[in-house]
Amino acid sequence: MQIIVEARKNAAVDALYQKVEAQTPITLKAIAGCTWSSATKAGVTEIEVGTALHPEAALYHELLHADLKISGLTLPPFAVSKNPNSIGISDTLYAIENELQHHRMFGAFTAAGFSPAHFYDDDDHAAFKKIRQTLDAIAPSAAPTSFLMLLLTIIAPGGKNSDADRQTLKKTFYSRCSGGTRAKMEKIEGVFKAWTASPSLDTKPPIIQILNILGEYDGTWIGGGTPSPSNGEQTAAIGVSSAVHERHARQNPTKYVDP
Ligand SMILES: [Zn+2]
Repeated sequence: MQIIVEARKNAAVDALYQKVEAQTPITLKAIAGCTWSSATKAGVTEIEVGTALHPEAALYHELLHADLKISGLTLPPFAVSKNPNSIGISDTLYAIENELQHHRMFGAFTAAGFSPAHFYDDDDHAAFKKIRQTLDAIAPSAAPTSFLMLLLTIIAPGGKNSDADRQTLKKTFYSRCSGGTRAKMEKIEGVFKAWTASPSLDTKPPIIQILNILGEYDGTWIGGGTPSPSNGEQTAAIGVSSAVHERHARQNPTKYVDP
């Protein structure tokens, strides 16, 4: 694939490609659009290759996801719950876990010489605009999870929007939250800061901390790996498939908000 050949002319990309491939054979799949993704499971890494103005940065991003998995990052989490609020929790878990990875990857990305602006896909310049549009319409009383999905994009490291824009947007974001939600979001920012500084590769503790702070999912069991029924009890298993691809894009900020 020519775009990969070009990307691997970058020495850092080629070195990480060889490191990943030595442990998990890499398969490449061309896809339409600019949202690259990758999945590492069962000893194989599959990378979906889209278009990119900076293919070396896009490929390095996916290789960093793969490298985290190979280094022992826990499998994508899943939830088992009878709490009616948990409908859609798989999206929440996936989004949190993907962003935990981004926070951990960003330092290595910039250390390899890449611009912070190239950390996400080519469409990233619109990320903050979408958030502002959503904030214009969101009710302060909306579920904390709806605000979390916006916060994840606002605090995601790097990207095409400036840090000054980020600070302005964060002020707007907090002005739209109810007092209780604001306190929750500030605590969740703290969880991300602690995770970024920590050497742990176990994403379950921060995910459970965040779900507990949200307070919408009482009685939900969170695991990692493949869901399996326990004790013969009929449970509604809402799984995140371990085949799920790590997206090169940030979360879609309009997808999770209450209508
Ligand atoms: Zn990513």
